[in-house]
Amino acid sequence: MPDLSLRELLDLDRRHVWHPYGPMPGRQEPLVVESASGVRLRMADGSGDLVDGMSSWWSAIHGYNHPVLNDAARGQLERMSHVMFGGLTHEPAVRLAKRLVDITPEGLEHVFLADSGSVSVEVAVKMCLQHWRSLGRPAKRRLLTWRGGYHGDTWQPMSVCDPEGGMHELWQGVLHRQVFADAPPAGYEESYAAHLRELIGRHADELAAVIVEPVVQGAGGMRFHSPAYLRVLREACDAHDVLLVFDEIATGFGRTGTLFAAEHAGVTPDVMCVGKALTGGYLTMAATLCTARVAEGISRGEVPVLAHGPTFMGNPLAAAVACASIDLLLGQDWQTEVKRIEAGLREGLAEASSMPGVRDVRVLGAIGVVQLDHEVDMAAATAAAVREGVWLRPFRDLVYTMPPYVTGDEDVARIARAVRAAAREG
Ligand code: PMP
Repeated sequence: MPDLSLRELLDLDRRHVWHPYGPMPGRQEPLVVESASGVRLRMADGSGDLVDGMSSWWSAIHGYNHPVLNDAARGQLERMSHVMFGGLTHEPAVRLAKRLVDITPEGLEHVFLADSGSVSVEVAVKMCLQHWRSLGRPAKRRLLTWRGGYHGDTWQPMSVCDPEGGMHELWQGVLHRQVFADAPPAGYEESYAAHLRELIGRHADELAAVIVEPVVQGAGGMRFHSPAYLRVLREACDAHDVLLVFDEIATGFGRTGTLFAAEHAGVTPDVMCVGKALTGGYLTMAATLCTARVAEGISRGEVPVLAHGPTFMGNPLAAAVACASIDLLLGQDWQTEVKRIEAGLREGLAEASSMPGVRDVRVLGAIGVVQLDHEVDMAAATAAAVREGVWLRPFRDLVYTMPPYVTGDEDVARIARAVRAAAREG
């Protein structure tokens, strides 16, 4: 097909293409990206570049078109872009598994390479349910989480997203009925810790696992909470024979200032999901890690295998880029870069606190959030950010950013200006 003109491209998009959480094709007008390099998206309408304040939904931590990641992809492409993983293995997958075991909290030993974050959560849930089933405790099949969370768009993950006002409210009554604690307060409150302990104790006989996003709840509301709650969960889960799952799909690979958010609390979960920044945003891959105890439980069952095996599991191209992305991250002083962005966002967003309509401003690591006291007008807020030369995706009552770690100081300041403009005009 010859290159499409911008008009043709938009006409075809309108006619055929369904976008994430979009109305049926034809009812919205996306902006067209021509290419992306560094922290900039080049727009096809000739309007110039936009600084990406979203890292393509937390993932492009090194920016776009990075020579090291390009070389890793090209090098692997010459050898093998994909091969089935059932009965076969290969170096990129093995190297990636070893890297993940080395850098994640001590005790996580086994790695399932999934093809998206949502699927890695499905796998985590299967691991936990199968573990108890194999140990002769099939009644332990519910999950406990706290409100305000988000774990993905497939079936089990949807059941542990916030049931009221959350993205999956539409499906209430159809989804599995899970156990919900209140949303965690920002600071440590003993009464909330007691609430968690009480619920876990009360439901222990039917609970397979507790699943939470550690320290930052992402798409469910961009809220931060005290790491101390993770220690409370660990102790209560141990006391009541319940597994603990951390969903680090958004928080992993440095975003909150530690390599994984679990490190803020010094806690090892039984199962952990990573994704998004795993491949530096290049290719779709996620991983579910578990301890030897979880794996051994599964292996004692009537069906002693983990019952999951997607076609594109362990994709070599994605695994090779993931290894290169992890090496690139760890080979530099990424903590200093994340701290620099944190300082820039704090400074740039400080004056938003006194703006009318703003309820809260919060910054942690390379994450900045302005929460409004009303639903944002998405189109107006996005347009305001674009006028400042920045790509943002405000939603609900939130205008927020999680820039690539390579974003320079001037661009961080520009992003903060755009967040303020979006909050003012949206
Ligand atoms: N868990 C968390 C915490 C997430 O932020 C997301 C993605 N927004 C997911 C799971 C789902 O990942 P994916 O979109 O790759 O399926």
